[in-house]
Amino acid sequence: MFAVHLLAFHFTKLKEDQIKKVDRYLYHMRLSDDVLLDVMARFRAEMAKGLGRDTNSTATVKMLPSFVRSLPDGSEKGDFLAVDLGGSQFRALEVKVFNDGKQSSQLESKFYPTPKEVIQGSGTELFNYVADCLLDFMESKNLQHKKLPLGFTFSFPCKQTKLEEGALLAWTKHFKVRGVQGTDVVSSLRKALQKHKDIDVDVLAMVNDTVGTMMTCGYDDPHCEVGLIIGTGTNACYMEEMRHIDLVEGDEGRMCINTEWGAFGDDGALDDLRTEFDRELDLGSLNPGKQLFEKMISSLYLGELVRLILLKMTKEGLLFNGKVSTALLTKDKIEMKHVCAMEKYKEGLSNTKEILTELNLFPSEEDCIAVQHVCTIVSFRSANLCAAALAAILTRLRENKKVLRLRTTVGIDGGLYKTHPQYPKRLHKVVRRLVPNCDVRFLLSQSGSSKGAAMVTAVAYRLAAQRKQIDAVLAPFLLSLDTLREVKNKMRAELEYGLKRETQASATVKMLPTYVCGTPDGTESGKFLALDLGGTNFRVLLVKIRSGRRRSVQMYNKIFAIPLEIMQGTGEELFDHIVQCIADFLEYMGIKGARLPLGFTFSFPCRQASIDKGTLVGWTKGFKATDCEGEDVVDMLREAIRRRNEFDLDIVAVVNDTVGTMMTCGYEDPNCEIGLIAGTGSNVCYMEDMKNIEIVEGNEGKMCINTEWGGFGDNGCIDNIRTKYDKQVDEGSLNAGKQRYEKMTSGMYLGEIVRQILIDLTKQGLLFRGQISESLRKRGIFETKFLSQIESDRLALLQVRRILQQLGLDSTCEDSIIVKEVCGAVSRRAAQLCGAGLAAIVEKKRENRGVEHLQITVGVDGTLYKLHPHFSRVLQETVRELAPQCDVTFMLSEDGSGKGAALITAVCFCTGCFSPGHSAILY
Ligand code: ADP
Ligand code: MG
Repeated sequence: MFAVHLLAFHFTKLKEDQIKKVDRYLYHMRLSDDVLLDVMARFRAEMAKGLGRDTNSTATVKMLPSFVRSLPDGSEKGDFLAVDLGGSQFRALEVKVFNDGKQSSQLESKFYPTPKEVIQGSGTELFNYVADCLLDFMESKNLQHKKLPLGFTFSFPCKQTKLEEGALLAWTKHFKVRGVQGTDVVSSLRKALQKHKDIDVDVLAMVNDTVGTMMTCGYDDPHCEVGLIIGTGTNACYMEEMRHIDLVEGDEGRMCINTEWGAFGDDGALDDLRTEFDRELDLGSLNPGKQLFEKMISSLYLGELVRLILLKMTKEGLLFNGKVSTALLTKDKIEMKHVCAMEKYKEGLSNTKEILTELNLFPSEEDCIAVQHVCTIVSFRSANLCAAALAAILTRLRENKKVLRLRTTVGIDGGLYKTHPQYPKRLHKVVRRLVPNCDVRFLLSQSGSSKGAAMVTAVAYRLAAQRKQIDAVLAPFLLSLDTLREVKNKMRAELEYGLKRETQASATVKMLPTYVCGTPDGTESGKFLALDLGGTNFRVLLVKIRSGRRRSVQMYNKIFAIPLEIMQGTGEELFDHIVQCIADFLEYMGIKGARLPLGFTFSFPCRQASIDKGTLVGWTKGFKATDCEGEDVVDMLREAIRRRNEFDLDIVAVVNDTVGTMMTCGYEDPNCEIGLIAGTGSNVCYMEDMKNIEIVEGNEGKMCINTEWGGFGDNGCIDNIRTKYDKQVDEGSLNAGKQRYEKMTSGMYLGEIVRQILIDLTKQGLLFRGQISESLRKRGIFETKFLSQIESDRLALLQVRRILQQLGLDSTCEDSIIVKEVCGAVSRRAAQLCGAGLAAIVEKKRENRGVEHLQITVGVDGTLYKLHPHFSRVLQETVRELAPQCDVTFMLSEDGSGKGAALITAVCFCTGCFSPGHSAILY
């Protein structure tokens, strides 16, 4: 018993001594966490340098754009070929991808040797060899008569300019083929393939093995956004935000970046960590001075590092009694597989002993322990360095996403990671220690690097098909200039119908006389009340107007909510509510007893017989109170005031918001003769010559016409440009069949059109993984303000995603791009249609005046116009295009509908009326 104990003690002691000896000898290779954090920081800086336009040329880590922008989403399908060049063996594959909801795929492949004369010969020989192998593979699978898309895994640093185009920057690993560097490898492969008349393959994509690995893992795990190779070479790729990639046009979405991290340190950045062994190994390699990081990590060099260490230790008498064997002097005699075998601790020292014996080294027990430990230090350093660089990538990803914790998956391939007994465990542990705020899943990819090229091709195929479908959905929203001109002409015709006595009754653009016959001249003064009803807010205002030198307008206002049940209740309830709000306001302003003149902005179509009479033609927008249509709204207001019996008011004018807007701008600019609203609704008014207004007597002067152009198209005249989505929005509205133009152009409906398109795209499987969420089903959830937010140029895609998230729409990056595109198509069409309508108006004004060139100002109000990032610009461009003889100035009205009503009231109150003598109305 005692003897055994002693022996065990003796062995432990012996082991400790050996380990201490090696530890001391290789202390420079044992990297503490502090050092690793430092490496991580250095690598982060290198990445940033590689991404920057001005710094890229001197960066060692090239950060090459791969032109892979999308990960698989599981809906890929088809039959694809792939060839994989750059690993230890050349391989040809056929990959079948099934869209069966289970992410299944089938892979058949054949390996071919890569003889030295091929990988160190000429370019033509190399690509001919690849083509020959592929032909052999296709023959063996009976595929030679099929036309198949092919993906090319080419695992060397390439400067890609497209998914299917890339010039080799430099050979790495054990490749050194003449005449390839700087040329496009895809076209070389194509050329070689064309020599074989009996096969027809189409090279659609070239990828690096790292990208291939990420794509293959991404097919199984949607969180995968990093690809890592630890094999013959080492490299990593990850999904970077486009806006950080200076070298590729565009800011939208993400693109996979092939870091080519193997070259990290080539500028000396790692010299303090490199040992004499690293230097010696580098000098003896095919590419001295290059790929210095790779040479500390990848399997191609691990064995050689171990050999160099053992050689030196032996020479110094620390091993094998100082006896060097010929084998130990032979380059590359120790390979990765030996290192892996020696580190199988479970098998004790037997593997080590056997391997060393084969090298004629006659190892003692102590020697075996020491050598095993050398292997461990060398391979552990590899895992440590790899972990540090990977940690830098993960941190970048986390910061790009602006999250505190990152959940992500790293797809891994490569012989060292796969076969070394301890490597994965060590790598995972160190990564988790270096980036504790990242939850990382490491997913080993099966044939990832080779299969990946087929996956990339499959994704490219899917995207091309999807693009076609999306384009088809959005095509009807793209209006040509000719179509817009046609819209303008139709609008013009409808304007005329509305003005003519015979056609007036049936006209869809009603052209309502407003009895406003001029603009304020600055002599108005006094205190007035105004009401603004007709949009999102109901407001009561007190307006103080001063004339003369101290000419000014002061306003006080209060917004009141109109609950839905009142908007859609009875007319009496609605007007009682309005009067209640007036009472609150008077009290709030402390003018309860005052009897003030009041202007009523009522932004719905009204037939007026005078400035203070207005019969509601029909509700629009969200209103639907009963017993109002056909009634005089001024009377209804008066009656409600009487019912309350608390105060009295002089209702002087009822005004449309377009008119108020025109008046407000006209107060500043006498050339303003048009008022435009692009808010909840869409409408225009303008000053028309009395002689053209057949339904109002008199031919002198002008009168403002409230066009009510929102009803344009209600006779079907623009049905040729209405899409099925417009029809769906119409059918779901309160006034189906009515206000068709308004429903294509105004704030109340644009979001809803977008929602209908999104539903359709989702049904077609083009969005949200084909899942129509509860929230997407909700009418009105997609408000027009979200269009403004999403389309804002300053917004990164991530923020678009966040907005969609808030709406309960769980979107991927690609989804967000599509949603943004949809919003853009809908708002652009709205602005163009509005512009076409306005072009008809200004052209009419030009002809009225009988001038070659017209200078005119349009007063504009409405949140859509004011806050949407592109609406106003597109509208103006369209007007310029369609009415080139008109020079139109757009003037934003400050609070036009409220202030305008007060101004009109002031004019009427001060002068009696605009122009007596227009009172007879001839309907
Ligand atoms: P009104 O209801 O009097 O037309 P607005 O001119 O303020 O009032 O328009 C309100 C409408 O503008 C809302 O119904 C909504 O559709 C739209 N809207 C609100 N916010 C935005 C925004 N940020 N961008 C574009 N449209 C908006
Ligand atoms: Mg308004």
